[in-house]
Amino acid sequence: MRYKLDERGHKRVTLIPGDGIGPEVTEAACRVIDAAGVKIAWEVHAAGAAVFKAGLSSGVPLQTIESIQDTRLALKGPLETPVGYGEKSANVTLRKLFETYGNIRPVREMPGVKTPYSGRGIDLVIVRENVEDLYAGIEHQQTAGVAQCLKLMSRQGCEKIVRLAFEVARSEGRTAVHCATKANIMKLTEGLLKRTFETVAVEYPDIEAHHIIVDNCAHQLVRVPEQFQVIVTSNMNGDILSDLTSGLIGGLGFAPGANIGSDVAIFEAVHGSAPKYAGKNVINPTAVIQSGIMMLRYIDELPAAQAIEESLLATLERGVYTRDVRPDGSVSTRAFTDAVIENLGKRPERWTSRDVRALSVPRLAPRPEHLRVKSRRTVGVDVFVEADTDPSELGREMEEVSQGLDVRLKMISNRGTKVYPSTGALPDCVDHWRCRYVVRDDRWALEDQTIITLLGRLRFVHRWMHVEKLEEIDGTPAYTKAQGED
Ligand code: NAP
Repeated sequence: MRYKLDERGHKRVTLIPGDGIGPEVTEAACRVIDAAGVKIAWEVHAAGAAVFKAGLSSGVPLQTIESIQDTRLALKGPLETPVGYGEKSANVTLRKLFETYGNIRPVREMPGVKTPYSGRGIDLVIVRENVEDLYAGIEHQQTAGVAQCLKLMSRQGCEKIVRLAFEVARSEGRTAVHCATKANIMKLTEGLLKRTFETVAVEYPDIEAHHIIVDNCAHQLVRVPEQFQVIVTSNMNGDILSDLTSGLIGGLGFAPGANIGSDVAIFEAVHGSAPKYAGKNVINPTAVIQSGIMMLRYIDELPAAQAIEESLLATLERGVYTRDVRPDGSVSTRAFTDAVIENLGKRPERWTSRDVRALSVPRLAPRPEHLRVKSRRTVGVDVFVEADTDPSELGREMEEVSQGLDVRLKMISNRGTKVYPSTGALPDCVDHWRCRYVVRDDRWALEDQTIITLLGRLRFVHRWMHVEKLEEIDGTPAYTKAQGED
């Protein structure tokens, strides 16, 4: 069940007004939804700046978490992490807590909102993976001058987001999905998304599936954005592409969003709290009203969602705009909302509303059979060391360390480029080196005890800070080669 009912039969929704302009825009969305006749029980809860300042380092109180756990549904305003309070953003905390793995961001040209693309009919959706990738937030300072961020992507995470993208396409009657990755460079992480996309696409024969390299996708979005219908992509790439697409249709005032999980959905505009406009009654509530429309479709309130969308289009068609669209002759946030409410029941003359049905959210088994490993063999180990030296001297030292062990030094790389044995490449070496040891006989498997002995010897020569096993999974190398490695 996507929603719960209260004792009056109203659908329960957790409402988080948020910070800055948040209370104004969420109030606008609630007024419009109520006026459209949807019976919602809004359960108002706090999160964000005031909560951080009251001393709660997550920015999200237990009551708010419990409310979402209970209602499974939230409409939220933007949240700030004030400087000097809390380490993690309250937004990211909410996404992770409720595993809202899919971030859906539609962008569509709107009546009278002038942009360099006006008249070209931009109407696309970015489906961004929302919890994995570089946003897992696993970072380490490796040496004083070298930092690392782990890009973690799972087959499960890729499959969920890819299926969600195809389901978005189906629910909105769209006929093509592009998967944008950097699989040409990051073959194991971004490549996993590409391979998963190609596998899952077979189950959606009614929808065209295209892979596109993400940098070309950005280029194509600026040149011919109308060629895209749905774009599915990883977290970091999606973050950048979705801000780009918001810019194509007139800015953040028109960019709604949904965070979808298997059990919980949180709807919010893409924009932040725009603090300089807080309380001034001048900002554009359209993005949050559109997020509310997405929420209504999610909970099967299709006629009301359609009515509000038509009213919004009709209002804009009639030339009612907030300051961000028309600095002269604009109306206030409240007056704009009043106009949308007055126009409920009216249809736009030249603009159509998309015929959307409720989204089917994919559910996956926690450990599917195809992810079970049949054979695994450790064939080597990468040891990352800190050393202020040159490659040939380091090579000599590292070879000496492995004498008499089952492993030999195969190569040393610096920031991914092989520097020992020398290939003639001359990268600017920093004090962070990857020493790759492999088994002396290709048929052997490396024992953990050998790695421990190696590290025990190594610590007398240089400081090691990171170790990664080199494995073959079901006979396939589960690691990549350095630039220049044979
Ligand atoms: P922002 O709040 O989105 O505002 C940036 C600019 O976008 C505004 O100054 C304004 O442009 C325009 N804008 C944003 N929303 C608008 C609206 N509804 N109507 C009209 N114009 C709108 O971004 P920010 O200033 O970078 O971030 C402020 C705070 O919000 C930060 O603390 C940030 O962490 C937080 N934030 C939260 C979320 C979230 O909760 N999901 C998302 C993003 C940022 P003009 O100045 O040109 O008028």
